[in-house]
Amino acid sequence: MSCFGSIPVDLSERLEDPGDSIQLAGAIEASEYTVGEKTFSLPANPKYDVVLTNAGDGILVTGIVRASVEGECDRCLEPASFEVSGEIEEYFLFEEPENSDAYEDGFELVGEDRVIDLGDAISDAVIMDTPFVVLCQPDCLGLCPTCGANLNEGDCGCSAKAEDAWVESDENPFAALKNLKFDE
Ligand SMILES: [Zn+2]
Ligand SMILES: [Zn+2]
Repeated sequence: MSCFGSIPVDLSERLEDPGDSIQLAGAIEASEYTVGEKTFSLPANPKYDVVLTNAGDGILVTGIVRASVEGECDRCLEPASFEVSGEIEEYFLFEEPENSDAYEDGFELVGEDRVIDLGDAISDAVIMDTPFVVLCQPDCLGLCPTCGANLNEGDCGCSAKAEDAWVESDENPFAALKNLKFDE
């Protein structure tokens, strides 16, 4: 299911002959999209730029879609933004092939009305280029597991306390040494 709905392109009286090609550019009216359980917002409409070529038995669509995306940092939960530039590649066959296994990367069909829908191809390209892990900055320190403080804003002191506690604890084999008095 396309996260951008359908993006129909009417080919009537265009791309009639093999080798014919046209360039198409446009913007997608969308304010957000979802990947798995994450929702990303789009402060501006994503833009696509594609070339459609009549390749004989179908229409080859190649190009790029670019978007500025805003989400949430997976480590510190603060806002995180990133750029997407996804490669679009889709093949729309004029007729259902006898041997569909020959099309390893899959295919779609050109409608009877000579309309193709770029919605899936463009949303796949955006999703493919959306990072699996989103970070506010490459070295985001995340949240303290003890108190939940954002460690990018400074040390909350928990890790130092935890170390002190360990030094004092019975689990630390060196704790006993601390109390030894050395006669010199
Ligand atoms: Zn972060
Ligand atoms: Zn803490």
